[in-house]
Amino acid sequence: MTTMSKMTVPFYGHVRQYQNIKAEIDANVNEVLMSGQYVMGPMLKRFEKEFAAFHNTKYAIGVGNGTDAIWLVLMALGIGPGDECITTANTFFATAEAIWIAGATAVFVDSDPLTNCIDPSKIEAAITPKTKCIVPVHLYGQCADMKAIRKVADKHNLYVVEDNAQAICARGNGFQIGELSDAACTSFIIQKNLGTFGDGGAVVTNNEKIDQGVRRLRNHGSLKRSVHSYGFNSRLDDIHAAVLSAKLKHIKEWSELRRKWAARYTAGLAGAKSFTLLTETPGNYHVYHLYVIETKKAADRDVLLKFLEDNGIDGKCHYPIAIHQQEGYPWGKDARIAGPIPNSERNAACCISLPMFPELTAEEVDYTIAKVLEWDKAQA
Ligand SMILES: *Cc1c(COP(=O)(O)O)cnc(C)c1O
Repeated sequence: MTTMSKMTVPFYGHVRQYQNIKAEIDANVNEVLMSGQYVMGPMLKRFEKEFAAFHNTKYAIGVGNGTDAIWLVLMALGIGPGDECITTANTFFATAEAIWIAGATAVFVDSDPLTNCIDPSKIEAAITPKTKCIVPVHLYGQCADMKAIRKVADKHNLYVVEDNAQAICARGNGFQIGELSDAACTSFIIQKNLGTFGDGGAVVTNNEKIDQGVRRLRNHGSLKRSVHSYGFNSRLDDIHAAVLSAKLKHIKEWSELRRKWAARYTAGLAGAKSFTLLTETPGNYHVYHLYVIETKKAADRDVLLKFLEDNGIDGKCHYPIAIHQQEGYPWGKDARIAGPIPNSERNAACCISLPMFPELTAEEVDYTIAKVLEWDKAQA
């Protein structure tokens, strides 16, 4: 290969995406602006209907952000102080944070080394009489093994709440998101696969009690004007619903593009000796929220990241500090580790996310591949 001239490859393509569908977004937003109804208005209702239909669930409830979506569901289920929720430590901090906001204890079990999602075979040993819920994360855009998780949950009479912040439009092997759980929780912050220009979140569920509970809790404990019980303020604004309604029509084509770039990375990077590629479980439809590789040596991670930066490529780490390694990790009653979690720790130490968004170009992907391989060849 001839040496390529230096390029700049961004990590996100927010403005490219906006430019591609500007007319559709602007029309929807303008409809809200001219309606005079900006909070709990008709656009929110419309988007909730579309989002439920997209998931084949009975209900969708828009909330303020993805973190709120999780703890609002936990509270609607009556989960709180004295209860335990089982999840993973190699996820965005908010998964555990939501459990803590609900007042419950987060219990970390190890992740599967191939997908980095929760390892279902590790769950049973972590269950105690206090365990109420499993919170699997569909990390990087790939579904956790929900069939195996559901089996454990049924055996021990536990709830399952999916953290689906990263995997809208993904499918598991023989199941859909929202199908095998009590509820699935989504984030619409701009960098997620379906992102608004700011913060947003939603819950999808088939359970009427969760639907009514989250609707009440998100709006000052009120389902009827002037009648209140305990609650909060966590709503999805109609302007965000307008953006999301326009973008939802494109999520399938964008997921296909993410898969196309992922396949190009995987083919291009195959055979490298200094890092490993993560796998797509057979039968899964992975939507590559992130395209992550893991260096074989933890010491290489920051070196490769710096090399990418020096070559104009914006790489990142998701997530370099596992939750139990965070300074703010509330040791003691709020969290515990169930057994050693070496896979989650390796993931945190070795992960690198390469640029991944639908609006990438073939030149940008090929340049990134070439640079990563150039670094790989220089390793002993
Ligand atoms: C983004 C994210 C969240 C939190 O979503 P916010 O909308 O930022 O509150 C929760 N869990 C995971 C796995 C995420 O990636």
